[in-house]
Amino acid sequence: MIEIQNVRKSFGALEVLKGIDLTVQRGEVVSVIGGSGSGKSTLLTCINGLEPIDSGRIAIDGTEVHAKGTDLNKLRRKVGIVFQQWNAFPHLTVMENVTLAPRKVLGLARAEAEAIAERQLAHVGLGDKLKVYPGRLSGGQQQRMAIARALAMSPDYMLFDEVTSALDPQLVGEVLDTLRLLAHEGMTMICVTHEMKFAREVSDRVAFFHQGVMAEIAPPGQLFDAPQSPELRKFLAATH
Ligand code: ATP
Ligand code: MG
Repeated sequence: MIEIQNVRKSFGALEVLKGIDLTVQRGEVVSVIGGSGSGKSTLLTCINGLEPIDSGRIAIDGTEVHAKGTDLNKLRRKVGIVFQQWNAFPHLTVMENVTLAPRKVLGLARAEAEAIAERQLAHVGLGDKLKVYPGRLSGGQQQRMAIARALAMSPDYMLFDEVTSALDPQLVGEVLDTLRLLAHEGMTMICVTHEMKFAREVSDRVAFFHQGVMAEIAPPGQLFDAPQSPELRKFLAATH
């Protein structure tokens, strides 16, 4: 379970998260939508401890992310994160890129790491690209490699930050299919996304961020079909 309680966060004078409350249960898929600068990415980086918070509490399975003495490396093995773009090591093959962290961080033997990587790469549809260098992959394939790389650490939770927004439209579908598959397999996920159709289909709940506030959160049918606030109505009108 991911528990976020009254989290506040500023960058200088700019308050970016103004008291966020959100609990994500195991197996739940929560999509986060909202305008540029509303605090979506900041929330994800706070959840896995990449950014400190000013007040409030974030806990993963009861472990407080920002408490003194929390082992952030251990926590991050539990919570995978995939960003809009990930710069793979160009001089390493797909297989080598994906086995790097399991070998270095988890200390797995090469054969074991390779078995896991092979499984995860097959899972995201890259079973035939193991020996290829990242420069030879399409944007969509690179994003799926990034997902496989995160999955190779056997995380319990996955955070996705607009993983399709740097892609050409024709490549978006294959990455969304990968996320759909993960969701159906029961992965606990928070997905920041601009893909409203995807959010509607896959999410248990959708959260709408507006200027650092989680203005609405509801099951997708309710949130998309009966938005409560003028801000969400305006946002949805602009994205359709
Ligand atoms: P987008 O949809 O454009 O990705 P977002 O909702 O993810 O937007 P954030 O990236 O969380 O928005 O940023 C929220 C606000 O915080 C923005 O005004 C941004 O400029 C500011 N901000 C984010 N990171 C930093 C930082 N490291 N230092 C200073 N300001 C930051
Ligand atoms: Mg962002």
